[in-house]
Amino acid sequence: MAVRLTEAPPIQEDLHACTMCGYCVPVCPPYRELGFESAAPRGKVYLMREFDKRGLGILDWLLGRKTAPDAEFSKAVFECTACGACENVCMADIPFDGLWQEVKEWMVNSGLGMPEHTSVFENVSETHNIYGEPHQARGGWVPKDAVQDPAPEVVYWVGCAASYRKRRVAESVVKILNAARVKYRILGTDEWCSGAPLANMGYGSYVKKELMPRNIQAVAQTGAKVLVTACSEDVRAFLVDYRHWGGNPPFSVLHITQYVERLVSEKRLTFTKPLQGLKAAFHDSCAQGRVTGMYDAPRNAMKFLKGLVPLEMFPNKAEAHCSGAGAGFPLVFPNQANSIGSKRLQNALELGASAVITTCPHAAMHFEQVAARQNMPLQTLDIAEVLAQAL
Ligand code: SF4
Ligand code: SF4
Repeated sequence: MAVRLTEAPPIQEDLHACTMCGYCVPVCPPYRELGFESAAPRGKVYLMREFDKRGLGILDWLLGRKTAPDAEFSKAVFECTACGACENVCMADIPFDGLWQEVKEWMVNSGLGMPEHTSVFENVSETHNIYGEPHQARGGWVPKDAVQDPAPEVVYWVGCAASYRKRRVAESVVKILNAARVKYRILGTDEWCSGAPLANMGYGSYVKKELMPRNIQAVAQTGAKVLVTACSEDVRAFLVDYRHWGGNPPFSVLHITQYVERLVSEKRLTFTKPLQGLKAAFHDSCAQGRVTGMYDAPRNAMKFLKGLVPLEMFPNKAEAHCSGAGAGFPLVFPNQANSIGSKRLQNALELGASAVITTCPHAAMHFEQVAARQNMPLQTLDIAEVLAQAL
């Protein structure tokens, strides 16, 4: 794609609010790997300010020299896992989560996107899932005992990962819903990719225009008042991104652990099977933790399980370290992504865990690959699987 710089997003006020304090530098996972300021939020903000000034000084202005984003700058922008750590610590309250999405979108629209992300965008445009699998197979996993209701209380939003790569997660959610006799509906081919990974690869304009309205409509037309999902990225899409873009879904959005808390408190669900002393470290996914602030629900849900020994990996919650899996980062920076994931798993091993539990199937797949490459004796489990095992 030819480079044709489009208009910069309206972020000047945020850029100039930065005090250059540097608090965001050591928390940024790619910076921690590389040690280059260009990878850190402060470095990127500095460069964008220079572009905003359209020159480095009076001499540049007199000579008509201009600074403008180029391929090198764009690569630095995409050196970002969308982990939310910079927004969490920023002294100037810069809303980085949305800001990085807009800057990445600016780069893609200017022909400066990452070639490694193009296939993900093409897959979603053609097959409505990030893997390029046949759309017709999206509901192919649905088990025979999934009794779907024409007037559902909830829609179970499966997501691309659990539909095609992590079907155990989807089957586990169905087992939980069946056990509580919930009236639910699975949308099958009416469900398309939520677009959360794409928006963090710079394809936000497509997500806003094509995916968000039809996905909200697909759920709303069932009449269900609640959307339940076991995917952190989809929690993020419906709770944060769609609302930020004015989509305003007319239904509640709950992670399966929040819904389990509700079902248990309503005495519709009990966990009876002990888990044989499973020692598992809990990983806060960035999309569900820092980005949506949902820290307690998974921890509360684990308290219902007998025989589970949940371990806290420190730092945790708002300070938790990233898996390295987000925003298509492993496609462009595989070595850095591997190293970031490996450090997080090392943390779990040091605690004596035999498994890592997470709420993000994308993080889980990344952890599985990292652990296999390094022969780490660690299982990766989704929290829905663990809950279903205890029924
Ligand atoms: S979101 Fe995370 S990876 Fe991206 S710039 Fe901020 S701290 Fe770095
Ligand atoms: S924490 Fe915020 S104010 Fe401080 S350098 Fe980073 S972006 Fe600027």
